[in-house]
Amino acid sequence: MSPPVEKVQSDPTLPERADVVVIGGGIAGVSAAYHLAKKGHSVALVEKGVIAGEQSSRNWGWCRQQNRDERELPLIKYSLELWGQLSEEIGADVSFRRTGLLYVTDKQSDLDEWEAWSNLARPYQVRSQMLSAAEAQAMTPGCTQKWIGGVHSPTDGRAEPSKAAPALAEAARRLGVTIHQGCAARGLETTGGRVSAVVTEKGTIRTEAVLCAGGAWSSMFCRSLGIDLPQAGVRSTAFSTTAAPEVIEGGLSTPGYVIRRRLDGGYTVSIRGRGRLEVTPQGLRYARKFWPIFRKRRDAGTKIRFGRSFLEGPEALGRWSLDKPTPFERMRVLDPAADTDTVTEALGQLVASYPALDGIRMKDAWGGWIDNMPDAVPVISGVDRLPGLTLSTGYSGHGFGIGPGAGRLAADLVAGDAPVVDPTPFRYSRLIDGSPLPPGPM
Ligand SMILES: Cc1cc2nc3c(=O)[nH]c(=O)nc-3n(C[C@H](O)[C@H](O)[C@H](O)COP(=O)(O)OP(=O)(O)OC[C@H]3O[C@@H](n4cnc5c(N)ncnc54)[C@H](O)[C@@H]3O)c2cc1C
Repeated sequence: MSPPVEKVQSDPTLPERADVVVIGGGIAGVSAAYHLAKKGHSVALVEKGVIAGEQSSRNWGWCRQQNRDERELPLIKYSLELWGQLSEEIGADVSFRRTGLLYVTDKQSDLDEWEAWSNLARPYQVRSQMLSAAEAQAMTPGCTQKWIGGVHSPTDGRAEPSKAAPALAEAARRLGVTIHQGCAARGLETTGGRVSAVVTEKGTIRTEAVLCAGGAWSSMFCRSLGIDLPQAGVRSTAFSTTAAPEVIEGGLSTPGYVIRRRLDGGYTVSIRGRGRLEVTPQGLRYARKFWPIFRKRRDAGTKIRFGRSFLEGPEALGRWSLDKPTPFERMRVLDPAADTDTVTEALGQLVASYPALDGIRMKDAWGGWIDNMPDAVPVISGVDRLPGLTLSTGYSGHGFGIGPGAGRLAADLVAGDAPVVDPTPFRYSRLIDGSPLPPGPM
């Protein structure tokens, strides 16, 4: 079942041409469209389903520097600055609250990992503080579980996935971006080896610049252009609860459950590291590249299974011609089923550790398809072999928080402007030129 998401108005007519066409209306696509429009470019955004219908409405809503890959730290710092000013800038609430985020644990291995990360992050002036057992206990009042320590990041925050990307999309529309929902991009046309148009199910848009921000579908789209993009999905589960007393203002991660306070007075709940890796044709194609990260995820609780995704969806086999319906139209919204065991277990552990939450119930539960890169770092980059195409994808389970900054970086690259941060760590070529792809922290 899809979680609720705020509706965005569509524009009735597809433009004949645009300076830039953005494919995909998740946080990566809408934020890039917003920044491109701010720079004065005409932009059309095409989305096969609805704005934020896939990962961008299904996530936990954590906007964090804490425990990020070092390669992403400059971009997430910039993104958190943007989150802090966006509501005022667009004149609408993007729902960001700088509440801080808290991790506590009863496992020495977690503390060792967080300590190592804190040392690594120090040169970036990230505010993060290791907590003693007593401090971790004091920061979780009302919790009956005993912690041996934790880590707190006071300048991190939370936002509502149901609201953030739609609010940005509306802001982009006010700047002139046209938004076309229920409009899949089927492929690209090229002239002289450069992008010259996007062919959609509703017609063709002439353009010299395309940003592919297709989330879990990006690899399939790129494959149809002869571009190899190693990407693999993990199915994950989260749920919202009924309204309940506030035990934490921001987000709390424990070994048994993860919670984030919602604006509606409930919580979004999940279990860290829990997920299901489904065997798919695409997964098999890239298995060797993904082996190190999946070994790490398997140790953290990810299970490997066969499922329907072998036959349908973004990782199935697919070939199409541009004049007939494509796999993108056959699955308007990728809506994997929630795993009921995860829901029962997380709710049980939450209530067991917080007696004040006795009586809390699950409201909506949903699945989400996390699009991973082999090193868990996104691609925000042009592609040498197809001038005019830029990718912004592969956010590997942490693209919501970095989304506003990633949109700005993608817009800079598309427009040929000086990039807001060094884009080298996000270059596409690292995935295909034999560069080492060390998986970062999860
Ligand atoms: C359960 C879960 C929890 C998470 N928790 C967090 C968190 O707490 N913090 C965090 O930072 N991140 C989190 N994430 C990750 C985060 O949600 C994603 O990294 C982020 O939303 C990715 O945004 P996106 O725009 O790249 O992709 P998406 O939001 O998936 O958007 C891609 C869009 O492209 C469209 N599309 C694809 N192909 C085409 C086509 N051919 N034509 C037209 N449209 C197309 C799709 O329909 C889709 O709407 C979580 C993810 C999940 C699933």
